Amino acid sequence: MSRVYNFCSGPAALPEAVLKKAQAELLDWHGAGVSVMEMSHRSAEFMSILASAKARLTRLLDINDDYEILFVQGGASTLFAQIPANLTNGFDSACYLDTGAWSSKAIKEAKRYTDVKVVASSKEKKYLTVPDFSTLQLDEKAAYLHLCPNETIGGLEFADLPETSLPIIADLSSTILSRKIDVSQYGMIYAGAQKNVGPAGVVICIVRKDLLKRCDDSLPSIWNFANLAANDSMINTPPTFAIYLADLVFEWLEEQGGVAAMEALNIRKAQALYDYIDASTFYSNPIDPAFRSRMNVPFILSDQSLDALFIKESEAAGLRTLAGHRSVGGMRASIYNAMPMEGIQALIAFMAAFEKRHG
Ligand SMILES: *Cc1c(COP(=O)(O)O)cnc(C)c1O
Repeated sequence: MSRVYNFCSGPAALPEAVLKKAQAELLDWHGAGVSVMEMSHRSAEFMSILASAKARLTRLLDINDDYEILFVQGGASTLFAQIPANLTNGFDSACYLDTGAWSSKAIKEAKRYTDVKVVASSKEKKYLTVPDFSTLQLDEKAAYLHLCPNETIGGLEFADLPETSLPIIADLSSTILSRKIDVSQYGMIYAGAQKNVGPAGVVICIVRKDLLKRCDDSLPSIWNFANLAANDSMINTPPTFAIYLADLVFEWLEEQGGVAAMEALNIRKAQALYDYIDASTFYSNPIDPAFRSRMNVPFILSDQSLDALFIKESEAAGLRTLAGHRSVGGMRASIYNAMPMEGIQALIAFMAAFEKRHG
């Protein structure tokens, strides 16, 4: 068996140590005589896994008592609808910042529930930059301000948040736990697990408790955040195996030194790759340098007729899934927490050799 460097944007690479631990525990979890997949979600064993995942996430992100952690099913895309359904009750509008493909999708779904005010958009700039926050058309009577601080498809990231009295709701699907954040600046954070946390099937939500008062009884009960909170994310059967793997990833992150240590490594990884791309005339990255993503690095070849060959030869060299999203083309290297520095070095070495052969 040989494992390759996997640059897939999601479902993405998981730490090898986590996969090995899951493998060792697969048939018999801690002497239970069954797999986590086979045990009741109401069993003391699974309840201990859920409690552990919440405790570790609380420590990793320094989450205070004003927040509730929820494990939600359906993917981040479900939350695009579930958030306005839950949190616009009693309000006439919600504000959205449009910085790329994922924020646009969130806007499209929110329009089914409320009057969406797009506070700014970088669409006319082809989503290569982030709008200047001083120009935002904020409606301070809106239910919240939604934004996506890491646009996975475009490869665009921003760290600062706009000044506003509105609760900020952030889609952190592709950046959670990759850099330090101050949770208390947000009304709600949500993240599909399959980029930086674990397998697909669960969404991590961190929601400020006062916002749960907005969730009303007209919502389907399994969609209701307040109901989920009251039932410890177990109104029905939760995605138990995905939550278990998330707990193992959280444990691994703690062993690595936590979010600060991951952030330091992620800065070095991204810097090495962008430095190489910038020094080359054969490869380029189109994003405004102030807003380049540390997690998703798109790049284009100066001769796009070589794209298919680049993919073919990179796969043969053990570098998997470097093709850009179907909507943008080119290449994209997704380099989440689980991608080691060695993977970046292998990619750079391959890119240099490819240019030598075909440039
Ligand atoms: C992948 C992704 C999504 C969609 O996640 P699903 O779980 O497939 O619905 C949403 N937002 C961002 C930023 C993403 O990267």
